[in-house]
Amino acid sequence: MKVKFYGVRGSIATAGDETRRYGGNTSCVAVQVGGETLIFDAGTGIRRLGTELGFQGVRAHLFFSHLHWDHIQGFPFFGPAFGAGNRLDVYGVQSDLDPGGHPQTIEFPMATLSDGPPVDDAKGVRAALAAQMTAPHFPVGLDAMRADLRFFDVPYGERITLPASSAPIIVRHIGVDHPNGCVAWRVEHDGHAVVYATDLELAQGIDGEVFNGLVDLSRGADLLIFDAMYTPEEYEGKGTFSRRGWGHSTFEMGATLAERAKVRSLCLTHHDPGHDDAFMDRLASRARARFASTTIAQEGLELSL
Ligand SMILES: [Zn+2]
Ligand SMILES: [Zn+2]
Repeated sequence: MKVKFYGVRGSIATAGDETRRYGGNTSCVAVQVGGETLIFDAGTGIRRLGTELGFQGVRAHLFFSHLHWDHIQGFPFFGPAFGAGNRLDVYGVQSDLDPGGHPQTIEFPMATLSDGPPVDDAKGVRAALAAQMTAPHFPVGLDAMRADLRFFDVPYGERITLPASSAPIIVRHIGVDHPNGCVAWRVEHDGHAVVYATDLELAQGIDGEVFNGLVDLSRGADLLIFDAMYTPEEYEGKGTFSRRGWGHSTFEMGATLAERAKVRSLCLTHHDPGHDDAFMDRLASRARARFASTTIAQEGLELSL
């Protein structure tokens, strides 16, 4: 299993000298596993991934954590989606969250997602992607994409099984605390696992429902990719305003989760647009002092599991 980061910034793309080393593109991570390409989120980083995949002969699975701008804005610039003959399966979850954003159930039914016809739901992932490709925001619509695009609105809690070489790929998710809802994904294949958990806040704290759900989801994973947008001081509002309720976490929370779930390594992502490279270097030292096996996501970083 190979994991490569194409976008590590949260909220808005942040180009410039101050963010050159860690990168300024928004969320996008690719996982190469069992001969398949799995992509998590289509922030602006997906443009470069598309360039690397090429225009022809591409088959990929694209999973959305949620549909905020910084996770969809790159989609209209994903080259393989325009190439006839390419195949792109797109997955989103209509998570059953209560008004407070808490998942009502955390369970993983053994159901397998069927390779069925495209779902055209007004609230689903297809509708959200189509909406950003309309006038006056964008010159061409979703129908300009000539690849075989299939959209799956995954029922909350449903486990996805993808056929692959040597063993099937299992993908499952849970709902997490984030404005408008969000899910964290886990990919398993042949004894290895990676968890993509960004845009989440542990609003009920450690040992709350979301935290315990994430411990279950992350248990024994080789790699936990985690939202650490704020420092603990920023989150609490020391010397500034509090970021509580904004839907993001800290490296402290990631470290506690990593320890509890006994993951092998932690990778922090969704960097605040205001955190320049020098700031990120300092944050990296602090995070490693707290959980030794921590890396900071950087554009172009590739990890082999
Ligand atoms: Zn985000
Ligand atoms: Zn978000």
